[in-house]
Amino acid sequence: MTADVRNVIIIGSGPAGYTAAIYAARANLSPMVFMGSVTAGGALMNTTEVENFPGFRDGIMGPELMDQMREQAERFGAELLYDDVTALDLSGDLKVVTDGEGNEHRAHAVILAMGSAYREIGLPDEKRLSGRGVSWCATCDGAFFRNKPIVVVGGGDSAVEEATFLTRFGDRVTIVHRRDELRASKIMAERAFANDKIDFAWNSQVVAINGTDKVESVTLRDTQTGEERLLETSAVFVAIGHEPRNELLRTADGDQVELDAEGYVLVQGRSTRTNVPGVFACGDLVDHTYRQAITAAGSGCAASLDAERYLADTI
Ligand code: FAD
Repeated sequence: MTADVRNVIIIGSGPAGYTAAIYAARANLSPMVFMGSVTAGGALMNTTEVENFPGFRDGIMGPELMDQMREQAERFGAELLYDDVTALDLSGDLKVVTDGEGNEHRAHAVILAMGSAYREIGLPDEKRLSGRGVSWCATCDGAFFRNKPIVVVGGGDSAVEEATFLTRFGDRVTIVHRRDELRASKIMAERAFANDKIDFAWNSQVVAINGTDKVESVTLRDTQTGEERLLETSAVFVAIGHEPRNELLRTADGDQVELDAEGYVLVQGRSTRTNVPGVFACGDLVDHTYRQAITAAGSGCAASLDAERYLADTI
C-alpha cells in the first residue's frame, strides 16, 4: 500500500479520462491517471482522421488529438501511468486501486472512464483496414464515403439506424445480416424497407474484408447454402454491438457500482455520480446514446467538477 492518499484517481485515458485529468489538475487536485498498458489514449488511437472534434478546422489524426490531450493534462501536473488497474475496492471512504504490479493506491475519489469496446466481426483484415474503410461509427466516418457503395453488418436497431444515416452519403447501402429478418424494432425496420437506397443481403455472413490499402470488397457466405460471393464496397460499418469495459467493476461479491441491464454504469440524473459516494463515471462507459469524443470529453469535465465538489464537502 502506498503511504500517500490521493485526492482523485482517474481510470482511463480516452477523451473522458484526459479531460477529467486536465480539469482535476487545473483545480490543484494532483490526479493520478491510469492510462491502460495497451490501449493508452483510448479508442481514437485506432483511427485516422477525426473531422468532428471542434477546434480543428481541417481535422486532426486521432492519435495526434489524444497526444495533445495527454500533453495538456501533463502540463498542469497530472501524474500519468501507462498501467492497468487490476482490482478496485470502492466500498470505504478511502477507495483502493490496485495496479498491474499489485501495488495499492488510495484516494478519496475515483473517476471511472474505461470506455466501451465495439464488438468486432473477428476477421483477420478487420483491424488492418480499420480507419481505411472499416469503421464502427457512421456519425464519425460516414462523410468519407460520399457517392460510394457501403456495407453495414448487423441486423439490430443500431445497424438499421447506421444504414439509414449512411444513405445521406453512400450511393448504395447494403445491410448484411445472418438471418432472413431484422432484429430491429418494427418502426426502424419499416423505415429501412421504405428507403430505396438500402439493399439487404439476407442469410449472409461477411467472411473476408478485401483490399490492399483500403476496403475494396467483402466476401459474403450464404449461411444456408455455404455459397460465397464478392460484393464491391468502399466501406464496412460494423454494427453488432458494444460492450462497456466494466470488468473491473464486476466481482464475485457483486458489482462495485450500480450497472444497468447492459452493463453500463448508472449515474444519477444529469450528474456523473454513481450510487457509491466518491465514485464518478463518464464517457462511453456510461453512454449508450451519443458515444462521441466530444460527448465523452464533456462528461469527463463534469466528472472532475463533481469530484471537486464532493472533495470540498467531505475532506
Ligand atoms: P475510450 O476512448 O474508449 O478510452 C477508454 C480508456 O480506458 C482507454 O484509455 C483504456 O486504456 C482505459 N482503460 C480501460 N480499462 C482500463 C483499466 N483496467 N486500467 C486502466 N485503463 C483502462 N468519435 C468522434 O467523436 N469522432 C470520430 O471521428 C470518431 N472516430 C472513431 C473511430 C473509431 C475506430 C472508434 C473505435 C471510435 C471513434 N469515435 C469517434 C468514438 C470515440 O472514440 C469514443 O466515443 C471516445 O473515445 C470515448 O471516449 P472514452 O474516454 O469514454 O473511452
